Amino acid sequence: MLSPAFLSKLRSLLPAHCVLNEREDLLPFESDGLAVYRNTPDVVALPEDEAQVAAILKLCHAHRVAVVARGAGTGLSGGALPVDGAVLLVLSKLNRIKAIDPLARTAVVEPGVRNLAISEAAAVHNLYYAPDPSSQIACSIGGNVAENSGGVHCLKYGLTVHNILKLRAWTIAGQLLEIGSESLDSPGYDLLALLTGSEGMLAVITEVTVKLLPRPERAQVVLAAFDDVATAGAAVGNIIAAGVIPAGLEMMDRLAIQAAEAFVHAGYPLDCAALLLCEVDGVNEEVSDDIYIVREVLEASGATEIRTAESEQERLRFWAGRKAAFPAVGRLSPDYYCMDGTIPRTQLPHVLARISEMSAEYGLAVANVFHAGDGNLHPLILFDANLPGELEKAEAFGSRILELCVEAGGTITGEHGVGLEKIKQMCVQFAIPELTRFNEVKTAFDPDTLLNPGKAVPELHRCAEWGAMRVHDGQLPHPELPRF
Ligand SMILES: Cc1cc2nc3c(=O)[nH]c(=O)nc-3n(C[C@H](O)[C@H](O)[C@H](O)COP(=O)(O)OP(=O)(O)OC[C@H]3O[C@@H](n4cnc5c(N)ncnc54)[C@H](O)[C@@H]3O)c2cc1C
Repeated sequence: MLSPAFLSKLRSLLPAHCVLNEREDLLPFESDGLAVYRNTPDVVALPEDEAQVAAILKLCHAHRVAVVARGAGTGLSGGALPVDGAVLLVLSKLNRIKAIDPLARTAVVEPGVRNLAISEAAAVHNLYYAPDPSSQIACSIGGNVAENSGGVHCLKYGLTVHNILKLRAWTIAGQLLEIGSESLDSPGYDLLALLTGSEGMLAVITEVTVKLLPRPERAQVVLAAFDDVATAGAAVGNIIAAGVIPAGLEMMDRLAIQAAEAFVHAGYPLDCAALLLCEVDGVNEEVSDDIYIVREVLEASGATEIRTAESEQERLRFWAGRKAAFPAVGRLSPDYYCMDGTIPRTQLPHVLARISEMSAEYGLAVANVFHAGDGNLHPLILFDANLPGELEKAEAFGSRILELCVEAGGTITGEHGVGLEKIKQMCVQFAIPELTRFNEVKTAFDPDTLLNPGKAVPELHRCAEWGAMRVHDGQLPHPELPRF
């Protein structure tokens, strides 16, 4: 509980409409996109400018009050889940595009600007911002930086970290950090990369300078159907081995295809087990050459049907099915749990086969729809939270999938972050020396653990308590602690 004295000081920093602590005003902020975890915040602060953000942080630091930053709240790992006794610092009112420089091909934006709004504003200069999470209509650039978000086009154009140049960010003590530069290299440690993906644990971002790219002259998509998922998985590797880097290379399995088709009528074949969408972009001649290669590789890889979109409308329709696949799957079952893990591309057939076996073992259906080109899986586990034990079963199944990704040489997150959801699996992914360094970095920025406490990086003793630990050099961390 926050003290009345603290709340009164907080109110003195902001206009009255920017501090919420009536229950009905707080409820919309009780979860992020991972709605199975909920916690009503004690208070929500909605600053309107950077000076207010700095003042709130200084106040919280002085009173040792924790702060959870929140952008649009579309995160899928509980990163912006409110913490008891903390201020939920919502950055959505900092939503100004401050400058677009078509010569330098950059935009300077506040953290609450929506991802898609950057491309919309840059379109007049025939430029766009490449990272395109499927949530891009709603998610904020501050959240994108904090999660190092990706999207369909990141296979060719990189993740958020590859598409930003500079940040302004504030430590919990209210110190301004100006990080990065307009050139490709900066002296000192790479704090830009460190803050990207730091999940609101190190500093609060108040300004982002992003790179803009020229819109490609032409984009063309090929759709390929397969009789089994493993063959489609192998075709993904074959395309890249043939020297083509697609702008997007996405895969859907039977359940996802059927759900997407019923929802948006994209024109997908329904008699196949897996579908690949492979987009190439660039100048006209390059696209024609790449399409030819892609079709040949797909045919040689065993595709049963190959279609190249014949018009821009058809290209957009093919993508509409993929982009709407998550909500489409939401129509199949009362709840679904979206997992996010990454594996080496070569492991796709093995891992997808294991997920299908586990689906039978847990008695829960899974729809797979994912960024196949970069091995970023999104198994959607279907369940009904109203049935006793189903949520726990879905969570246990999800944990097994993440651990399978680690066994296959991959990681427990591709783009959705660790948040609260995957904090135990961090103990599986990393051993004590790495976790120790992570905790030391956290302490260097936030010695009192006030920024987003309990998220993303587990304290070492927690791993021992959870009994989830990686053996390193034949040694378990904290051998003196009992295992549960
Ligand atoms: C339907 C759907 C599809 C999605 N598809 C994708 C996808 O394709 N790729 C992908 O990467 N993600 C995807 N996501 C997940 C989510 O949209 C991204 O993680 C996004 O970057 C979150 O942005 P946000 O503004 O909503 O952040 P929030 O959810 O509000 O916050 C996310 C994290 O960032 C921190 N944070 C937010 N703003 C700041 C700030 N200014 N300073 C410091 N920390 C901050 C929070 O503390 C939290 O830890 C999807 C989500 C949904 C619901």
